[in-house]
Amino acid sequence: MILKSFESDLVFRENTYLLISGSQALLIDPGADPELLIGEILSGAYNLLAVLATHGHMDHILAAKPLCERFGCPFYMHGGDRNWLEELQNMCAHFRLPYYGTPILNFDLAESAELDLDPFHFKLLHTPGHSAGSVCFLTGDQLFSGDTLFRHSVGRSDLPGGDLTLMKRSLREKILSLPGATRVYPGHLEATDIAEERKHNPFVVL
Ligand SMILES: [Zn+2]
Ligand SMILES: [Zn+2]
Repeated sequence: MILKSFESDLVFRENTYLLISGSQALLIDPGADPELLIGEILSGAYNLLAVLATHGHMDHILAAKPLCERFGCPFYMHGGDRNWLEELQNMCAHFRLPYYGTPILNFDLAESAELDLDPFHFKLLHTPGHSAGSVCFLTGDQLFSGDTLFRHSVGRSDLPGGDLTLMKRSLREKILSLPGATRVYPGHLEATDIAEERKHNPFVVL
């Protein structure tokens, strides 16, 4: 599997990940630049199977609608964050961000523990705390952690739907219990691994 990452240049500096295997591709958290991502997929002549969201915050789903529409693919997110979809247009106006439309939630990740999008296979970890519907995608030894775990930091839990107690539990039970060599690709900042975070993340001494 080839992994490409794109950092949105808007204020939120959100990471979008494009996963490629042969001619098939998947997007995780398409941030603010649909044209860039559409161009990338067209230039590789990839078949985009789906758009996945680690959670419903606007910086992670801004480009989801145009991508799903352009490539005729479904949008996956945990239904616990449905309220953020409903707020997307208002939030874009509030933060003066471009609004590209609200994606339709085709598959609710609350309904499964695994995701098979051949040739991609994920274990879904529901990790509430940053938001009620936050999930992490685990494939092999690679974890896409959204805003649950960052390098040497964690996501905030003071936004609506956030919960510090749940955040601590998610980190302890679902994330830090993974093998140390698990590579972590977060929603912001650079990649890390579980061993590094167990040792050096000041927020995970919980
Ligand atoms: Zn977030
Ligand atoms: Zn974020």
